[in-house]
Amino acid sequence: MDNDELQAWVEEISLTHFGIPFRHCAKFNSRLRTTGGRYFMKSHDIDINPHQLTAFGKEEVEKIIKHELCHYHLHLAGKGHRHRDQDFKVLLKRVKGSRYCQSIPGSTARRTLPYRYKLICTSCGMEYLRKRQMDPKRYRCGKCAGSLKLINL
Ligand SMILES: [Zn+2]
Ligand SMILES: [Zn+2]
Repeated sequence: MDNDELQAWVEEISLTHFGIPFRHCAKFNSRLRTTGGRYFMKSHDIDINPHQLTAFGKEEVEKIIKHELCHYHLHLAGKGHRHRDQDFKVLLKRVKGSRYCQSIPGSTARRTLPYRYKLICTSCGMEYLRKRQMDPKRYRCGKCAGSLKLINL
């Protein structure tokens, strides 16, 4: 997909899901590292991370475009266009946009931690993966309510 196709795609999503045309410029920006997309308040342009397409496919990128279009349309309409604004939350939910400008797997700023611990039920052997250390005495097995043992992976 090239920039022209992206532009046409963003215009189409804007008309279909927002009912308002997108009159600015959308382009791929391979320098975006940790975010899937970005909306520029000064130029009203939208950048989309091309790695996102490879990593997550068209369906996920469409959600990111919707997210950026929420910023775009609300900003132009003079409404709350920031993530914390109620207008933004409501519109994002309505068009089913992605909640975050999603981060790319393998990038340095990713926020998902690896699983470092495993809880094992001492009665039924059920295993639960955990990212953070925790006190196994405070929890019970979700299957049989047996006591748990914590193991470092
Ligand atoms: Zn955003
Ligand atoms: Zn159990």
